[in-house]
Order: sequence, then structure tokens, then C-alpha cells
Amino acid sequence: MDLNFTAADEAFRGEARAFIDSKLPADLRDKVLEGKRLQKDDYFRWHVALHEQGWVAANWPQEFGGPGWNAAQQHIFEEECADAGAPILSPFGLRMVAPVIMAFASPAQQQYYLPRIRSGEHWWCQGYSEPGSGSDLASLRTRAERVGDKYIVNGQKTWTTLGHHANWIFCLVRTNAEARKQEGISFLLIDMNTPGITVRPIIMIDGEHEVNEVWFENVEVPVGNLIGEENKGWTYAKYLLGHERTNIAEVGRSKRRLKRLKEIAAQQPGSDGRPLLQDVRFRDRIAQVEIELMALEITNLRVIAADMEKRAPGPEASLLKIRGSEIQQTLTELMMQALGHDALPLQHAAMDYGYDGELTGPDYGVPLSGQYFNFRKTTIYGGSNEIQRNIISKMILGF
Ligand SMILES: Cc1cc2nc3c(=O)[nH]c(=O)nc-3n(C[C@H](O)[C@H](O)[C@H](O)COP(=O)(O)OP(=O)(O)OC[C@H]3O[C@@H](n4cnc5c(N)ncnc54)[C@H](O)[C@@H]3O)c2cc1C
Repeated sequence: MDLNFTAADEAFRGEARAFIDSKLPADLRDKVLEGKRLQKDDYFRWHVALHEQGWVAANWPQEFGGPGWNAAQQHIFEEECADAGAPILSPFGLRMVAPVIMAFASPAQQQYYLPRIRSGEHWWCQGYSEPGSGSDLASLRTRAERVGDKYIVNGQKTWTTLGHHANWIFCLVRTNAEARKQEGISFLLIDMNTPGITVRPIIMIDGEHEVNEVWFENVEVPVGNLIGEENKGWTYAKYLLGHERTNIAEVGRSKRRLKRLKEIAAQQPGSDGRPLLQDVRFRDRIAQVEIELMALEITNLRVIAADMEKRAPGPEASLLKIRGSEIQQTLTELMMQALGHDALPLQHAAMDYGYDGELTGPDYGVPLSGQYFNFRKTTIYGGSNEIQRNIISKMILGF
């Protein structure tokens, strides 16, 4: 593929920018750019605006209601959204379960679920991990027993991101305890309003509620909610993980963070009293992460292009996951270092938009320690980076 943007791509960038300028609510833009706490409605407002424009499912083929963008257009749109301060849309429906539904579900399931994912009527979460089944995911124990035209589901999922906002969960469940562990798993879609489901919050290291435990007690799920074939869920699960890891690269967001880092470093004094941005050693660290980000961007474009040609992301998704998450962590570390002790306090109340109480340092320091702590997750979730390195060594290097 040609990695240079064409005149048509640049025209598309103008169109995307004009749309975002006119439709992204000003308070939402400020919340995102200031790193303030977002509510469900904040994500939803942006989702609906994109849906009305026909742009919400950027990565979907046109036959399923996507805008028909090529890889460059998808990349440009993500970059423009990030730069303008648009919130990240929840990926669980649009970017994770939707590709599985398109590839493996029945036409009736596709007709039912895909429009609801696009409209935002269905907000999805991911029921993969369990206590003791994270890296060794295939050891999962949540079981689904078939009784007539229903599955009866019992067990516990954990780390369920934004599960407290969701009304649907896609779950890996054990339907055959006798078979080899990868061969007894099925992929079930479950309405979160079904009796027997309990969602309990887990408070993260930054003090925020982002993840949950989800408990299933005799939850009745229609057999029609099974994706593909019973006991073949591991294949669909891996297909979904390829898409999940590709998304974690988040090049556009890191570019915006890098810009923010430079703005902060231009305002903060260095040890000699001049702006930190003029300090040779700090500039060097910024330059290093910028070069890594440019290399990641090119790899990301190659993977998106392959996906557009209906080649599911392969082990290169693991590369994106590792480098993307490490760059995100480095950027949050450098921001903390730029502010020094002013960045240390976790000012929870100040995370609310419109807070006008006392601050312990400059206003741009408010979200930094929360972001620093929160981003420790990026090398763990979506499959830890150690596991991604194992995948690369086996699948790419051939060890
Ligand atoms: C913030 C957050 C959000 C998440 N959101 C979701 C979600 O929405 N839905 C969901 O289903 N899951 C979610 N997860 C779960 C996530 O996918 C798992 O945490 C991850 O797969 C790691 O599993 P584990 O926590 O059980 O760690 P373990 O598997 O117990 O691993 C512990 C450590 O040992 C290392 N290790 C384990 N096995 C090996 C090996 N063979 N070789 C080398 N090193 C190894 C790991 O890399 C890790 O460093 C989330 C996790 C976090 C932290």
C-alpha cells in the first residue's frame, strides 16, 4: 500500500474536521481535553452524532452499514477525533463483537444485532476473564448447560470494563467440561437485564469506577443467542482478540497526548528556570517517544489496510498492542515528570467538569496522576504484554 496521504485523503480530512467542529458539543470537547471524568451520556451523545452522520461504524464494510472508508480515511478520522477532543467510543460493540457477528453469526443475528450496535441501543461489555482465567483464558469455568431451548449460565466474570453501563455482554462459557479445554467453549450473547446477573464495582488504582465483577446465577439464555457452533467459541474468541489488540494501539490519542506534553513542557520551568521544553535532556526523551509513535503509526496503517482486505489482524496485532501500550505509559510518565511534585495529588473532586475549588498546582496538572495510575492497565488488559511477546516469538520469529 502507499503510505502517503493523497489529495483525496486530505480533502476527506477537511470534511471530517468540519463535521467534528460542528457536531462535537463544546462542553464535551472541554471535558476530554481537560482530562475530566466522563459519564455514560457523554459517550452516548457523541455516538448518536456519529450514527446520524452514518460514521459511527468506521471499521465496518458498507454491506453492514459502515461508511466504506479505506484504511487512510479510518486513520485520518481517528486522528481528527482525537485531536479535537472527541471521547473514545466504547469498542466492545463496534470494534469487538461486531466483527465476530459479521464473520460468524447467522443472517438473522446479523440483522438483529448490527443495527442496534450502530444506533447505540445495545451497549456491550466483554465477559472473557475470570478469577484464575486471564492469560490462561481457555481454563475458564463459567458454565452453560443446555436445557431444551435455553442455556443455564452459572459463574463469575471479572475486570468487566464499563459493565455498569452495558445492557449486553458477550461471554465465553464452558459447554463441554470433558473435551480439551479450548474445545469445550462457546460464545454466547447475554442480555444484562436477564434475572440472575449481578454487577459489582471494582475501584481502580486511580480511585475511579471503570471495571466490575459480573456474577451469573442460573441465568437463562435462549439458544438463539449462541454465535456459530456450540463448542467452537475459541475460534471466534481469538478472532475478536485480534481486533481488540489492534484497537489498543490508539495512535491518534497518543499523538494528542504528545502534543499536550509539549504544551505542558513549554509552560513548566526546567531546573535552570527556562521552559522545560528547552531542556536538552527532556527534549531528547520527547523526541524518542515521538519517533516510536511515528513507527507505530505506519505499522498500524498496514494492519488496518490488511483488515480492509478482509485479512483478520494476525500476530502483528500483538506488536501494536505492546508498542502502543508502552508509548501510552511513557507519555503519562513524562507528563508527571514535567510537573514534578505538583502532579502527585489525586484530586478526585477536581476531576468533575466545572469544579472551581482550590487546586494544588496548575489546572492542567489535575488529571495527570490519575492518568498515570490508570495507564498501568494498558500493558495488562487485552492480554498482557508478556503474553503478546510469547505470541510474537511463536508466530513471527518461529521459536
Ligand atoms: C483495567 C483492566 C480492564 C480489563 N477489562 C477486561 C474486560 O472488559 N473484559 C475481560 O474479559 N477482561 C478484562 N481485563 C482482563 C485482562 O484481559 C487480564 O487481566 C489479562 O488477560 C491478564 O490476566 P490476569 O489478570 O489473570 O493475569 P495472569 O494471567 O495471572 O498473569 C499475571 C502475570 O503473569 C504473566 N504471565 C502469565 N502467564 C505467562 C506466561 N505463559 N508467560 C509469561 N508471562 C506470563 C502475565 O503476563 C502477568 O504479568 C481487564 C484487565 C484490566 C487490568
